[in-house]
Order: sequence, then C-alpha cells, then structure tokens
Amino acid sequence: MLLFVPNELEKIERRTALTPATVRKLKALGIEVRIEAGLGDSTDFPDDLYLAEGAQKIDREEGLKSADMVFCVNPLGPEELRKMKRGAMLLGFLEPFHVHLGAGEAPSDTPSKARIDAMLEAGVTGVSVEMMPRTTLAQKMDAISSQANLAGYVAVVLAAERLNKILPMMMTPSGTISPAKVFVIGVGVAGLQAIATAKRMGARVTAFDTREEALEQAESLGAKALRIDLGETGSTDQGYAKELTPEQLEKQRAAQGKVCADSDVVICTAKLFGRKAPLLVKADVVASMSHGSIIVDLAAETGGNVEGVVAGEEVVTENGVRIIGHAKLENFVPRDASGMFANNLANFVEHFWDKEASTFKFDDEDPILKGAVLTRDGKFVNEHPAFNK
Ligand code: NAD
Repeated sequence: MLLFVPNELEKIERRTALTPATVRKLKALGIEVRIEAGLGDSTDFPDDLYLAEGAQKIDREEGLKSADMVFCVNPLGPEELRKMKRGAMLLGFLEPFHVHLGAGEAPSDTPSKARIDAMLEAGVTGVSVEMMPRTTLAQKMDAISSQANLAGYVAVVLAAERLNKILPMMMTPSGTISPAKVFVIGVGVAGLQAIATAKRMGARVTAFDTREEALEQAESLGAKALRIDLGETGSTDQGYAKELTPEQLEKQRAAQGKVCADSDVVICTAKLFGRKAPLLVKADVVASMSHGSIIVDLAAETGGNVEGVVAGEEVVTENGVRIIGHAKLENFVPRDASGMFANNLANFVEHFWDKEASTFKFDDEDPILKGAVLTRDGKFVNEHPAFNK
C-alpha cells in the first residue's frame, strides 16, 4: 500500500496532512509513505524529519499517479483527481458542500460538483473527514472537532492581541483594571474552547447557545449562561443544533443585543452543518458596541454570524469595531493543527486496517464509512439528506 501526501496549494493553508510522527505510525502498519518535497515547510518540519521516519520524496505528478491512498487537508482540484489511480482513496476535507468565500452572497447547499464528478470519473474513493459521524467511536478521527478546538483557542488569543485592554482584572497601586467582558455565541467545540481560554486569561465570560446542554457545559467552565426563552429548539440526531425559525432568530437577536453592546469581545461560532450560518449580530448591534471592541466570526466562511463580516479579512466599522473574519483560524497554529489532523487521518486508516492482508478493509455497513465515504467504484454512495436537496 502506497500513501502519497502532496503539498497544499491553497494560499492561506499552512497545515499539512502528515507529520513525521504520523509517518512512524503508518509505517508500523506496513504502509509505504511518500511525500512531496517541502511538505512540512509551513509547520517547521524539514523534509529530513520525514525521511528519518522512513518516508520517501517523490514528484507530485508521479506521487498522485502511483498512490493507493492520498492524504490532503484541502480537496485536490478536478484535474489532479483525474490523475489518480482507479480505486485509490483520497482522504481529507473534501468540502462536499459549496462554501462561499466572498462577502454578501448566500452559499449554495449543492455538493461541490466538479470535484465529485472528477472522483466519479476517475473511480476514486473519496472520504470526506467533515462527514465523519460525531460518535464516541469516531472521536479519534473527528477532524472537525480537532480543528474547531484550536480555532476556538486562536479566536481568543487573536482578540486579546487586537483589543486595547487586558483580559484579566488587575489591582495595582497605580489603579484597578476591570476584567474584559467576552461574549461567546455558539457553545460547540470551538465555543467551549473559547470560553476555557478566555477564562484562563481572566476575562468575564457570558455564553449563549440554543441547546440547553451546551449552556450547562459553558457554566461548568465558569461562564455565565445567557438564557433566552425561544420555545422549542434542541438538536438533530447527529448532535447539531436545529435551525431556528425566523421568529426565534429575531427573538434571540433582540435578547442578546444588549450583551453584545456591553462586551469588549464577541466570539461567534454558530454554524449549521452543510448550510448557511445564521445571522445573529446585525449592523445596528455592531453600531451599538464601543469603539475598539472586537468581534471574531468563526462562521465567516459559510456566510457569517455577523452582518458586515468579510471572509478572510479584518474590517473596522465606522464606529471602530474590528470584525475578524479569517477563515480556518487553526492555521494560526499550523504545527498543532497538523499534528491533530494527521492523527485523525492515521487513526481512520488504522481503525479499518486489516493487519493480515496489510490493506484497508471496506465494510459497506460500517456507520463511520457510511457517513464519510462520498464516492466509490464510480458511484456517489453517500446518503446524507443534504445531498438530496
Ligand atoms: P457547530 O460548529 O455546528 O455549531 C457550533 C455551535 O453553534 C453549536 O453548539 C450549536 O448548537 C450552536 N448554534 C447553532 N445555531 C445557533 C444560534 N442561533 N445561536 C447560538 N448558537 C447556535 O457545532 P460543533 O461544535 O461542530 O458540535 C456541536 C455539538 O456536536 C457538540 O457540542 C456536541 O454535542 C456534538 N459533538 C459530539 C461529538 C461526539 O460525540 N464525538 C463530537 C463533536 C461534537
């Protein structure tokens, strides 16, 4: 079994799908590992570290053509997908839903057709890590969580760096500094880490989520929970928040507006799986915030929680509020993000590895594979309801 890991081509991407430590793990399974030269440049892992673990360097085109398995962070383009061997597996964030990167327009819910068509044509088995079920068994392969956790941390560190005041309270002979007020909207994986990080840094934290269990988790980390009576909310079977009705959203925005206005930092992490993110902070609320306050919108890539956010950029409003819309904040800590991500991929391979036959073993009824595999043997095999819209 030959694994090839090419360099990432996206400009903002600093993560890699393989670290030297993961080479060791994969070699122990009997997998031959090949990398493109310079793979670890952005994570400060020189090629020699990969080679010392037993990897070999190979030209990108040759690597793609010869591999039985390819690891990636971002999806390969259609042209490169067509170069892959029939029956080879591609494992990574395959972005099966269109994600919009510009401002203003709504993202579409349709699958990313050109890439999927290319995988079908080339007979490539496409395994999309964002589609892994959020179950206890699959936790070790859950790249959405491993990356969201780091993004939540970065959101707070970035906000603290841009903010004009410190986060903790300080009582000194020169005067007393009050703690910064941080409001976290959306207490999933990223939101929980944002709360924990802001608390560790001494901020006073308030949090809101539509799921009661998330509010209880926020409280267990020392945050104050904002409770808004929205009527029936709850979660889907997969543990994701249910979409609110327009009336519920209006009620939420009205109830949380004052908390935003009173906060130094607002961190928004509310996403809806495979769909456009809900608009939670409108321009009038941004206008009511103090000069110098910071908003970090982790949902910027999928439409944004905040009116006026620009994906991939930092904008300062007329009243001096900085809205940070950088996509994939985990890229600010590429070494740890790559370490976690590469582990997620290696854990997936190891989980389905047939040691005797020294090969990846497919089981069409396995819930993890049913969730994550998009294409196989030239057919689109994923039954997620979002693809049938
Ligand atoms: P996510 O990125 O889809 O959303 C982030 C948060 O935003 C969620 O907590 C969601 O409830 C919240 N949200 C949605 N609409 C909102 C609104 N209008 N206002 C405020 N908040 C809103 O979610 P995620 O972080 O990927 O995961 C969500 C949950 O999935 C986790 O908290 C957990 O319960 C579950 N999960 C389970 C596992 C597992 O069992 N292995 C792993 C990861 C996550």
